[in-house]
Amino acid sequence: MIVSFDFGIDLKEYANRGKNNSFPMLDCCPKCKCISHGNLHRNGYYWRFGITKDITIKIPICRIRCLNCRVSISILPDFLIPYFQHTIRTVLDLMQDLIQKRKTNHSRQLLRFYLVRYDRNLNWVHSFFIDIGYSNGLSSDRKKEAIKYLKMIRDFGESSFLRRSWGHLSTYFMAN
Ligand SMILES: [Zn+2]
Repeated sequence: MIVSFDFGIDLKEYANRGKNNSFPMLDCCPKCKCISHGNLHRNGYYWRFGITKDITIKIPICRIRCLNCRVSISILPDFLIPYFQHTIRTVLDLMQDLIQKRKTNHSRQLLRFYLVRYDRNLNWVHSFFIDIGYSNGLSSDRKKEAIKYLKMIRDFGESSFLRRSWGHLSTYFMAN
């Protein structure tokens, strides 16, 4: 299970702090909702890559285990989308580059994969914005809609969007 958390810093600073980041202790297990604090225990770290256009860096992800329901919870900084190595901002930038046919030295195959996933997520993104009170139509022009929502996500703040939309219709941004 993954929890998206706002550390208030970017990838580089998070990497600098490493295991000294201020990792949160959860009040409540997100799975069994047990009330007791004492059931949640730190359970080490795993290391993964975080990538922007400028840096590729390994960072620790803190794990918490619930002794009640045995679930393992990863505290993912909110600049990362689950299972994506590029930060959310970088994923959005790269997709924008591809849509607008800008030159890129990234693998086109990877960018296509991002774009196909994003296109499949577009109705979900649309329904999230409707849910929080935006009134927008969704036209059948996919490219136009793709660009419109990239801008809306940016204007909202990528990481805020990721956290706020987390759990909308029981899923998260860019989930398969
Ligand atoms: Zn639990």
